[in-house]
Order: sequence, then C-alpha cells, then structure tokens
Amino acid sequence: MAVQSSHRSTPLGLTVCEEHARKLALVEDMTTNTDLVQERVLKEILAQNGETEYLKRFELGGATDRETFKARVPLVTYEDIQPDIQRIANGDRSAILSALPISELLTSSGTSGGEMKLLPMTEEELDRRLLLTSLVMPVMSLYVPGLDKGKELHFLLMKSETKSPGGLMMRSVVTSFFKSDKYRNRPFNAYSVHTSPMATVLCADRFQSMYTQMLCGLYARLEVIRIGSTFASGLLRAVSFLQQHWQSLSRDIETGTLTDMVTDPSVRNSLTGILSPNPGLAKFLVDECSKEDWAGIITRIWPNTKYLNAVVTGTMAQYVQNLEYYSGSLPMVSSMYCSSECFFGLNLRPMCKPSEVSYTIMPNMAYMEFLPVVADGDSSAPPILVDLADVEVGKEYEIVVTSCTGLYRYRVGDILQVKGFHNSAPEFRFVRRKNVVLSIDADKTDEVELHGAVERASELIKPYGASVMEYTSKADISVIPGHYVIYWELLVVGDPTLSNGPSDLVLQQCCLEMEEAMSSKYRMLRVADGAIGPLEIRVVKSGTFEELMEYTISRGASVSQYKVPRCVTYAPIIELLDSRVESAHFSPAYPKCTHQTSQ
Ligand code: AMP
Repeated sequence: MAVQSSHRSTPLGLTVCEEHARKLALVEDMTTNTDLVQERVLKEILAQNGETEYLKRFELGGATDRETFKARVPLVTYEDIQPDIQRIANGDRSAILSALPISELLTSSGTSGGEMKLLPMTEEELDRRLLLTSLVMPVMSLYVPGLDKGKELHFLLMKSETKSPGGLMMRSVVTSFFKSDKYRNRPFNAYSVHTSPMATVLCADRFQSMYTQMLCGLYARLEVIRIGSTFASGLLRAVSFLQQHWQSLSRDIETGTLTDMVTDPSVRNSLTGILSPNPGLAKFLVDECSKEDWAGIITRIWPNTKYLNAVVTGTMAQYVQNLEYYSGSLPMVSSMYCSSECFFGLNLRPMCKPSEVSYTIMPNMAYMEFLPVVADGDSSAPPILVDLADVEVGKEYEIVVTSCTGLYRYRVGDILQVKGFHNSAPEFRFVRRKNVVLSIDADKTDEVELHGAVERASELIKPYGASVMEYTSKADISVIPGHYVIYWELLVVGDPTLSNGPSDLVLQQCCLEMEEAMSSKYRMLRVADGAIGPLEIRVVKSGTFEELMEYTISRGASVSQYKVPRCVTYAPIIELLDSRVESAHFSPAYPKCTHQTSQ
C-alpha cells in the first residue's frame, strides 16, 4: 500500500477518490512515525489523566515520559482494577481512572469469575474508534473496484442494554458503536450503504430483526456487493436462518406482505418502501432453496457479492471451511482487530487468505506495549515489555494497552505474532486468546471455567457411585449453532449388578448443570442470542484417555510432561474419542440468564 495523495496509483492500478486518498495518507503518516506517535499518545494520556485517583497512587509527579511511566505504573489484569471499575459502576463519578467522564461501561466477552468484564468508555474515544473504522473502506477500495456502486447486507443483531447500579449504560462494544448517535447520524457515504433499515437492526427481538434484515437483503439481491456480520459465526447463523425460513420469506416476497410474526411497528414501518409483490424473485428463491445442495448458496442468491466481510481469525478460523462451502470460495475479509478495551488496528492486505491475515496496529489508538511470550518453565526473569516499534519479526507477544479511556498497562490477554512491518508499524497475526479453550461465538471459556463446570456437574453423579475420571472438550460446529461437547470418562464404583452408573436423565441434568456453571456471556449467547446450542456430554469407554495418552506419546510427546488436553482440535484425536463414545446426552433446557446485552 503506497498512496500519499489523491488519485495516486494503487497496487492494482485502481483510482482512489480524494477522501480515500486523505485517509490513506493518514495511515501512511501514522505507520511511518510509529514511535513518535506512540510517545505523543502516552504524553497526552498522562497529561490528561495525571490527576486521576489511579495515577496519583503511583506518584508520577506530573511526568509524562515513557521511562517514568514504565518504572512506576504496574502491569495489571482486569482483576486488579475491578474494585475501581465497581466504584464507577456503582455511581462514583469522581476522576477514578479517567479525567473525562465515563459515558458507559462496555461488557467484554472476556470474563472474570464468570461475570463479563466491564470496560470504561468515553465520548471522546468513540471519535477515535469512528476514525479507525473510517479507514476500512479506503483500504478496501485499493483492492476492489466499484465498492461505492452497491450495498452491503450486514447482519447485525442487538439486544436491549442494562444499567449499572449507578445508572451507567452497560452494553457490548458492537451494540454501543452502532447505537451511538455519532454512528447513526454520520454523513451519507456511498461506500457504506446497507440493505437493512436501521429499525431492523435496532429491533430487540432476535427473530424479527434477523427475518427483516434477510428479507431486505433478498429484495436487494442484485445490488448486494458484500455480505457481512461482525464474526464468521454470525454469517453462518444467517445461512442457517435462511435454511429455516425461506418458505415464509418467499411467501412474503411473492405477495409483498409481511408475516404476522413480525410485530414491531417501527420495523414494519421501515419496510414500507421495500415490500412489493415480486413473484419472479419468490420463485427464484424457492427453486434455489429447495435444492438439496446448499453449496455456494450465497453466490447463487447474491451473485454480485465481491467478498464476505467478517472476522475469520482467532476463534473464528474454525468457520472458514463452512463459509467457503456456502459462498463458493468468495474472498473473506477480516478488516479490523478490535476489542472493548481499544480498537487496535487494520488489515492492510484485506484480500489475503484467512490464514495469512495480519493486522497493522495503528499507533494513534492507544499506547501499546508488548510482553514477550516465554516458553513454559522459563518465566523466572522479570518480564521486559517492548514498545510497538521495537517488536521483532517472528516473536509472540501479549498486548498490553494504556488507553485513552483509563486503562493503564492493562493486559488484554491476546497473543499476537509479528509477521512483518508496514513502514515502521508492526503487522501482527492474531495467535490466540490466552487460556481460552472453547468458543463458539463471542464466548471465551477458559480452562478454569471448564474445570469448574465439570466439577459442579460431577457432583450430580456421585449418588450413583460414579465420578469423572478424565475429561476433555471440543467446539462442535458441524451443525449451526455450534455447541460444546464434553467427553467424560467415568469411574463407576460399587456393585455393578446394583448400579449401571448415572442414567441418561441424570447425565442430561449434568449437561444443564455445566451450562449453569458457565460464564454469563456463555449463558447470554445460549439463551438470549441462540448463538450456542445445548451442551453435550459424550461418555467414552473406560481406558479411552489412556489410549489418548499413548497416541500423543507415540507422536513424540514426553511421558513425564504429558497433560490431558482440556480441548481437542486435532482430527485423529477427535476420531479416536468419537469412536469410543458409549452414550451422548444433551442439555434439556436453557440455563438461567440475567443479561440481555449481546454482540
Ligand atoms: P470484546 O471485548 O468482547 O469485543 O472481545 C474482543 C476480543 O475478541 C479481542 O480481545 C480478541 O480476543 C477477539 N478479537 C477481536 N477482533 C479479532 C480479530 N480480528 N481476530 C481475532 N480475534 C479478534
């Protein structure tokens, strides 16, 4: 990418408009002066927040330089700042973390003690995030022509927000972003025209929202040039929705009327100018959707789609194959790397393969440091954090952020690997989220949570003389929505003529108990969003985990260091486990869910 002013040539010889050229010049400027920009950002944060209660604890004495900051302010995790966040949530409006007022608390998909983490947000930060998102289409138009000559079918589901005890709005970063006045009142931009009227996106009822977004996308099928959702999992849920509802959708299109199942008046009103009888389109849909084979359905229905727009890296990489199947191998674009804590950066080579995606961190978004990932057993030396401009190609780091919203040297928990540099700004491959073993959608279940859930559920089988000898898990995405599968090897003691161990009913209850023990994010996605299917326990034959160990050792693992993997992804191991399954049991009901926020 090398565009500095308007109408310069691009990698593919495309012409970019003046506005895009200006944005691209900003990217070039930021990434050329990485270290200077980082120094400036830290200075600004410390000058602004030097008098906050948090920073005063570390006696910076007005210093705004890196050295003093690094020497005095400690590395922290969410748990360290949770008491401060709790005070903010409870209504303390004093400058605890940030001199600027906290406008809301973002509910992160990361959890702490089973509860969603709450991250501070300010109005001023929203501008910074809007600026980053406004860079996406300029970058895209370097690679794909005509993106101002069509629409995006972008599936976006939201739920109503909750309030903290002190009255602050608590909602997810995506909901907050799309519901903000700044986003909704943004000037018209030909590069970001959506097929869904805002009312369909804002509708709190998941079914009505998805139904009408799909309907609008079907009416506009020839105008649609890209199809997206925040995450790959959301796109697959849309395909599954179409599979379930195409008959009703086709009927509505044939007659130009809207099913009674959509009751929200604002949603119904928003479709007034869109709905009209179109028997030809209805017949086309019936013909396509009633075919057995849904391979390439996306391109069959929306033939002008140039690419899919959704995160396909990190835990979403598991969906790439399914998306390829339904889209006839359309390019998949993972354009940004963002979190509740900070919008980090952009994919500057958006048309690359999902496995090759890297994100260039934009140095103006926050002050970033990088904690080298050390090999197991090599953690005696104190960690030395590296600045953004100083990371080394090939090495893995955990990202640590000092944000403009009141986080200081905060460990995000994401592990990134340096792939190269764009000017002087590093390009990172997203490697993994620390500790996460299972994820279907925005849920991120770690080993501790999984272990706690197994322990809690295994209490239910004790009265039957049984206990869980060993367990492991996998995210099963063969059906949509995906679900957690937990493999249990049981030890049943006592007289086998008196007890066959726990019954199917008991094991079903164990599934539900595990779901009750999962994080609030899991339960919300399972209950309110329908993004996760019922948890399944597969009981395997006695001796299976012994076989698993032997298999792993035969492939070179050391016997003394062998640990049972708490999640399995390697196909031969999954095959081994599945070939030893004696019985399978599913959660018979929804777990309790108190949160309503989503996405
Ligand atoms: P949340 O704070 O709930 O929005 O979750 C943010 C987390 O989602 C990040 O810290 C990452 O772990 C993950 N994430 C966000 N964007 C990406 C991406 N482009 N690729 C991989 N993982 C991502």
